Amino acid sequence: MTTPTNLLGLDRRGLEHWFAARGEKPFRARQIMPWIYQRNVAAFDQMTDLAKALRTRLEIEATVATPELITEELSADGTRKWVLRLESGNAVETVFIPEADRGTLCISSQVGCAMDCQFCATATQGFSRNLTSAEIIAQVWFAQQALGAVPREGRVISNVVFMGMGEPLANFDNVVTAIRLLLDDLAYGLSKRRVTVSTSGLVPFMDRLRSEVDTALAVSLHAPTDELRDVIVPINRKYPLDELMAACRRYTAERERQMHIVYEYVMLDGVNDGEAEARALARLLAGMPAKVNLIPFNPFPGTRYTRSRPEVTQRFAGILRDKRIITTVRKTRGDDIAAACGQLVGEVKNRQKRRLSDIPVVRQ
Ligand code: SAH
Repeated sequence: MTTPTNLLGLDRRGLEHWFAARGEKPFRARQIMPWIYQRNVAAFDQMTDLAKALRTRLEIEATVATPELITEELSADGTRKWVLRLESGNAVETVFIPEADRGTLCISSQVGCAMDCQFCATATQGFSRNLTSAEIIAQVWFAQQALGAVPREGRVISNVVFMGMGEPLANFDNVVTAIRLLLDDLAYGLSKRRVTVSTSGLVPFMDRLRSEVDTALAVSLHAPTDELRDVIVPINRKYPLDELMAACRRYTAERERQMHIVYEYVMLDGVNDGEAEARALARLLAGMPAKVNLIPFNPFPGTRYTRSRPEVTQRFAGILRDKRIITTVRKTRGDDIAAACGQLVGEVKNRQKRRLSDIPVVRQ
């Protein structure tokens, strides 16, 4: 007997092919997707508009395999972090960040990461493996179900960002399949501006992404010169800044005028936060459809970096704004539960974990 297919790993076309290969009508895909993604139903016998014979067949040949929860934590600011167990025994982290006007789900694309960015906790564990498309989408499925228990405004998922563990473009095909499901009206139906892929700058895959799906792009820049970026974002040695910026220009070139790339820039005390770097960054981005997002460095055990002082960050932002570059400073969310940018490690560490049920839900 063949192992059942996890349907969470198939986008609409994949699902149509799957049914067709079994002599079933391809439109079954359209029947089944809303059950799985919109009603969060994983059991085929609950899909009441499917013929009994088909349900029985699905029970044998397919699954909707959802991840097992290891821990769930709730930050004082309302951010939630789930550590989810994968079949291989690995674990990944998924973070939900509620805001007044939206709810952002931050998902992982790999177990660990091979990019070796010097200021990122995920890098310290090295690379284990790519997530399957099913494991990527399962994070959204899980979160939607978990949040459904407390249906309140701001708790629904309106945005999804590939800013969890891993370099999404290094797991290109599976990430693209997941994006298709995020955008598909029969699945999550998110608008294309509300799905963001964040990359450390894998130039060839930025071009492929542009040709295959339409999403927002964030680029982890972090340094305005090759000399500095070579050190803190080592993939720069392979794809230096001139190639990266050319890929960014291509990404926005044929798109609608509103399309900006967000450039992420982690503020590391005494490393990349000086006035000279701010001016160099402004020169690098001059004339580009760019927004800069300054991220206060989030520390983790063993790091040699510290966070820039707030007034240094403000001065840096001021220099960029003087050059008419739209600049925001990212609010640190969830750092009390190690759910902030660059703090995700995906394994249960020996630190004190509070269970969600132990702490009161924080009202906004
Ligand atoms: N691999 C993807 C997604 C990473 S996480 C990428 O590189 O873009 C999202 C952002 O958090 C990236 O810009 C990443 O560089 C940044 N980041 C990593 N470690 C951080 C830390 N310790 N403090 C603040 N931001 C960090």
